[in-house]
Amino acid sequence: MSAAAQAAEKGKVYLVGAGPGDPDLITWRGLELIRSADVILYDNLASPSLLSHARPDAETLYVGKKRALHQLSQQQINELLAAKARQGLAVVRLKGGDPYVFGRGGEEAEALIAAGVEFEVVPGVSSALGAAAYAGVPLTHRSRTSAVTFVTGHEADAIDWQRLGHTETLVIFMGLTAFDAIADRLIAAGRAPHTPAMAVRWATRPCQQTVVGRLDDLGAKIEAAGLRPPALIVVGEVVALREKLDWYERLPLFGRRILITRPAGQAADFAARLRRLGAEPIEAPTIEIRPPDDWAPLDAAIAALGDYDWLIFTSRNGVDRFLERLDASPRDLRAVRGKIAAIGPATAQRLEQLHLKVDVLPDDFVAEGLLAALDAEDLRGQRILIPRALQARETLPAELAARGALVDVVPAYQTVEPPDAAERLQAIFEGEDKPDWAVCTSSSTVRNLAKLVGPERLAGVRLCSIGPITSQTARELGLPVAAEANPYTMEGVLEALLQAVRTS
Ligand code: SAH
Repeated sequence: MSAAAQAAEKGKVYLVGAGPGDPDLITWRGLELIRSADVILYDNLASPSLLSHARPDAETLYVGKKRALHQLSQQQINELLAAKARQGLAVVRLKGGDPYVFGRGGEEAEALIAAGVEFEVVPGVSSALGAAAYAGVPLTHRSRTSAVTFVTGHEADAIDWQRLGHTETLVIFMGLTAFDAIADRLIAAGRAPHTPAMAVRWATRPCQQTVVGRLDDLGAKIEAAGLRPPALIVVGEVVALREKLDWYERLPLFGRRILITRPAGQAADFAARLRRLGAEPIEAPTIEIRPPDDWAPLDAAIAALGDYDWLIFTSRNGVDRFLERLDASPRDLRAVRGKIAAIGPATAQRLEQLHLKVDVLPDDFVAEGLLAALDAEDLRGQRILIPRALQARETLPAELAARGALVDVVPAYQTVEPPDAAERLQAIFEGEDKPDWAVCTSSSTVRNLAKLVGPERLAGVRLCSIGPITSQTARELGLPVAAEANPYTMEGVLEALLQAVRTS
């Protein structure tokens, strides 16, 4: 994000292009405005995940066309935009694709002028361009066509199809239902019946669906495929290039719906990587990180930090919560005297970001691996601090104590069920398309998933676990494990998913 980006101004309306569906295709300006807006009015073509960037206290209003209950007329939308701006709010009107391509953005801007409300327009990647890129069809091509027309098929009778050229590329918006009539008119006007043509539904999303044919048979193919709006139709010689240039639908995880159960705020990187592999990440945290009920044990440990010969961290969360509490105390990192061990690379990386060197990092990222890595150390009489989750396995402290160490296990956080988890998962599992995969990154995530969704509804959803301990918990709950990461990291999870999909 550019450092100079300016936040949304109060009393102003921003007509922002959300891009065609892939949330990564919004502009920097658009994202900055979403982040800073007081109120966001959106409809069903804008990617809902963009709203996750809104301020937590921002008002988000669905003004779309899908759910009749909430449907507002264009007139009402125009009035609402002006009214919100007059209340002194920074208003974002988020529109699918580009606001000035068949989006009625022009009408909204005119209405704002009439109402005397200031506005700014942020262009977006129109679905025409998104579909071209993600379906492998360049809209122009030196040897095939040098003109392209965007046309609406909504009112086929209002268009003079005769006037459209015989070689240019046509991108027809809202043309699904009227396509047969449109094709007839184009052919009657002299366009070759065998001209390549395609329809693309939900372009740039992992659920993108493409139907390819010719001008004279695409209509039948659309019907046979049961294709529904929103879809674009592209007619022209360039459509033939798709066979060679398609890349998106060939991505290894294309179309796979993957449920991510890790805590909110820790899933974004993984979700972004899944999207780049063609998958649809579905974020539904089954755990949430909360402070422990009692800080006293951790505070006491921090007050005596210099006494510890070892600090052992078993998760990134453990590092973060320990540091938060250290910050709240009169001490700082200079109080750390002991050696440092981390259970795995993510934990170690967090420590290294603080310029703390990790003395011991096991090859196997579980308690047993860490114990093996500590084999060479004489732990007799050594004082060890383990700040970790309230609920955790006893293997590590028990074995360290057996080796003669004096171990203080102190709760730095606890994992609880997020208040909205049940409702969110309910919606996901009762929807049309169940997830293909669920990714569990700890025993607590899998335990809560099983509890919240139940084994029956999880049937058919393949489970990918981060490692043997999580897998064991899953099996104890009666959930079969379809893939297990090795190494026990998010990187390993991704590899395991790719491997399982490749061989299935
Ligand atoms: N301003 C938008 C278009 C809005 S009109 C843009 O620039 O893309 C709505 C029509 O756009 C839909 O009926 C459909 O024909 C098309 N459309 C929008 N998003 C689409 C998508 N992701 N995939 C296919 N067609 C889409």
